[in-house]
Amino acid sequence: MRFDCVIIGGGLAGLTAGLKLQSKGLDTAIVSTGQNALHFFSGSFASMQEAPAEIIELFSAAGIKLHYEKGVRLMPLGTFRDAELSLEDIELFKAPKFAKKALVVNLSGFHDFFASFLAEGLEKQGISCQIRSINFPELEALAKSPSEMRSVQIARIMDRITDKVIREVRMLLSDEDAVVLPQVFGLQDSAVIEQLRKGIPVRVVFAGTLPPSVPGIRTQMLLKRRYEALGGTFMASDEVLKAHLYEGRVHSIATRNLDNHFIEADNFILATGGYFSKGLRSNPFGISEPIFGLDVRFDENRSAWYNPSFAADQPYMKYGVVTDASLHALREGKALENVFAIGSILGGTRPELGTGAGLAIRSALEASNQILNIK
Ligand SMILES: Cc1cc2nc3c(=O)[nH]c(=O)nc-3n(C[C@H](O)[C@H](O)[C@H](O)COP(=O)(O)OP(=O)(O)OC[C@H]3O[C@@H](n4cnc5c(N)ncnc54)[C@H](O)[C@@H]3O)c2cc1C
Repeated sequence: MRFDCVIIGGGLAGLTAGLKLQSKGLDTAIVSTGQNALHFFSGSFASMQEAPAEIIELFSAAGIKLHYEKGVRLMPLGTFRDAELSLEDIELFKAPKFAKKALVVNLSGFHDFFASFLAEGLEKQGISCQIRSINFPELEALAKSPSEMRSVQIARIMDRITDKVIREVRMLLSDEDAVVLPQVFGLQDSAVIEQLRKGIPVRVVFAGTLPPSVPGIRTQMLLKRRYEALGGTFMASDEVLKAHLYEGRVHSIATRNLDNHFIEADNFILATGGYFSKGLRSNPFGISEPIFGLDVRFDENRSAWYNPSFAADQPYMKYGVVTDASLHALREGKALENVFAIGSILGGTRPELGTGAGLAIRSALEASNQILNIK
């Protein structure tokens, strides 16, 4: 099997690179083990330092509507956080006091949404709050088992009964000027979000639930669908085990499912994430990157990895694989000519490219540009 470019990891970084390269006519493949950080996504992309016109266009072609403005967003526990680029589900406010009176609506039997914390947080901002629950008979079968009464399973049902949800919420409204709903809508596409906003005559704000994140899963699904529609090959549930290197270049990779059938490519993009996705591995003696054996920046003094203050920025989150200015990954101090590292595997080694999801996107676009210039 041979491709122009093989991307290892199908999270936000890998999918963004795949979309960009595939849309420019390259023949690419993404190999991905499984769950990624999008399954926990809040809906807002952390800073990426630059106006994201290209990404808005790329995502819009996949059916994902983004909006870019500076503001604050409501967090799942009723606090507020600065945000910029966000999915359309996420409302950004000029200030936390976004309404005079709000109605927080939960679904009976759903414990993964923190209505009372939300109400308390809103009250602190001077927004007077009421909490109400709606009992939908359609959810009764799920409600019998707490493990079934989860965001994604609920969203599958809610998306089928959106008109009924609108009717029920309207009946609960009195003089409120905002409604806060759990993020359990729009699993397949965001049309349901628009429908709710049109049908409910006051401001509709969606607040996060416990994972999995419904908007995050939708984002992952739509990106993957668009990637495949452009002709990309997505190898799901496979794991890249090792790479074959010769004179500073990688020729092929081996995966768990393909046994001795190696995948060859002109370029490789490493987008395997941080510790969470096992892109980086740590043990008491150090931190390593398991596929290529890349150089990883970390403090040799183990006790410097952690800040004893739990809430402080943790130094270990800044560690990551080392690259040159063009995002070529370094191995034994030398840049591998055709291997680029992107996304959270970079940790804090490239702060100029942003943080969190911003870093994933910016680094994916940068590495793709490098590859496209080479071609
Ligand atoms: C729980 C959590 C929540 C977050 N929420 C936000 C947020 O709301 N906003 C924000 O800005 N940032 C958030 N972040 C930061 C996050 O790092 C980025 O948002 C971004 O999604 C990371 O994307 P990524 O593609 O680099 O890595 P990941 O999303 O981690 O994806 C890496 C992928 O590579 C695969 N993989 C790993 N090893 C292999 C292998 N050997 N072979 C094949 N595949 C492999 C993994 O299975 C995974 O699918 C969050 C991070 C975490 C951990």
